[in-house]
Amino acid sequence: MEHTTETQYQHPENDTQYKGLQVNSGVTSQPIVNPYRRTARRRQLSVADYVEGILKGNVSILGQAVTLIESTAEAHQAIAQEVIEKCLPYSGNSRRIGITGVPGAGKSTSIDVFGLHVLRQGGKLAVLAIDPSSERTQGSILGDKTRMEKLSQERDAFIRPSPSAGSLGGVARKTRETIVLCEAAGYDNIFVETVGVGQSETAVHSMVDFFLLIQLAGTGDELQGIKRGIMEMADGIVINKADGDNIDRANLAAGQFRNALHLFPPTPSKWRPEVLTYSGYYELGIDKVWDMIDRYFAYVKETGYFERKRNEQAKYWMIETIDEQLRAHFYQRPEVKALLEQKEMRVLNNEQSSFTAAKDVLDFYFERLRSDR
Ligand code: GDP
Repeated sequence: MEHTTETQYQHPENDTQYKGLQVNSGVTSQPIVNPYRRTARRRQLSVADYVEGILKGNVSILGQAVTLIESTAEAHQAIAQEVIEKCLPYSGNSRRIGITGVPGAGKSTSIDVFGLHVLRQGGKLAVLAIDPSSERTQGSILGDKTRMEKLSQERDAFIRPSPSAGSLGGVARKTRETIVLCEAAGYDNIFVETVGVGQSETAVHSMVDFFLLIQLAGTGDELQGIKRGIMEMADGIVINKADGDNIDRANLAAGQFRNALHLFPPTPSKWRPEVLTYSGYYELGIDKVWDMIDRYFAYVKETGYFERKRNEQAKYWMIETIDEQLRAHFYQRPEVKALLEQKEMRVLNNEQSSFTAAKDVLDFYFERLRSDR
C-alpha cells in the first residue's frame, strides 16, 4: 500500500502541473473501444420475431430457429413448437428428396452438383442430413459445409448438418420439423441426406417424396452388398462414377439392378423405379438424373399419390412422436430405471420370466402415474 502511494507521488502524471498524456486511475471496467461494434449477446427473439424472420427468408433467423428445434432445453422446445405450428400453414410447397448411399458412394460430390443443377432452374435449396453416427461421435459427418464446397457458396442454398443429440427417432423428428421451417422460408427443394448403412433410410424415406439410392459399380457384389429393403424403398437407383474405365462396369451394374428390380413387387405409387448411370465428379449424366426426378413428380402429382403419401407421412410422424415421448417418459423415470435393473438381474438369473418381469415394471409405472395425479 505504502509502495503504491510512493509510486503515485513519484510518477510525473501525478504532478498537478503535468500536461502530457495521462493514465486514468480508478477505472474498474474497460471503456468501450468501439461503441458501434455489435455485442456478442443476441437479443432474445419472440415467437413472432422468429416466424416473421422465417417467412421473410432471413437465413440467420432460420438457422437460430433450427438451433431451437435441436435444443433439448424445455424452454427452447416450447418456443420451437410454437414457431413450427405457425409456420405449418406456409409449408409443404417443396420437392422433398432423400439421398442415400454407403460412405464413399459420392453423396456429397453429387449433392454439390445436383444442388447447382436445381438452383440453375430457379428457386432455393435446403440440404439437411440424418446421420446415425453422430449420436456416438458427437459430431456429424453429413451435411458439413466443407463437403459441399460449391453449394455452400450459393446464396440460395441452406446447408445444415445432422442434429446430433438423441435417438434416431428424435433426430429424424427434428429434421422433419426443420423441413417445415425451411419450406416456410421459401426453400422449394429439400434434400435429406443419409448414410445407407442402417435404420436411418427408413426414417428419411418417411419424410421425402422421392428416394434416390446412389450405388457404385465394380465391386462385383453390387446386389449382395445392399439390403433388399433399401432397394425396395428407392424411386430411382443411380450408379455413380460412370467415368473413365468405369463406364462399362457401371452399365453392367445398371443392367443387374434393372433385372433385380423386375423381381420386386410394384411400388405403392405404381411408378417403376429407374436405374441410371452418371458421374458426379465429372458432371456427366446429371440432366438425365434430374429429368427422371422431374418425371416422377409430374407422375405422382397427376395420380394423386403425392398428396396421399404426404398425408400418410403426417400420420406416421404423429404416431412416431407419441411413441418417442411415451418411451422417453417411461425410461427416464429414475424409479423405473432402478426397478428395470433389478428385474434384469432376476431375468438373467432365471428367477423370473421376461414377460412377468415386464408386466411388473409396467404395473409399477402405471401405478406411479395414477398416484402422480
Ligand atoms: P460420400 O461419402 O458418399 O459423401 O462420398 P464423397 O462425395 O465424399 O466421395 C467419395 C470419393 O469418391 C471422393 O474421393 C470423390 O472425389 C470420389 N467421387 C465422387 N464422385 C465421383 C465420380 O463421379 N467419379 C469418380 N471417379 N470419383 C468420384
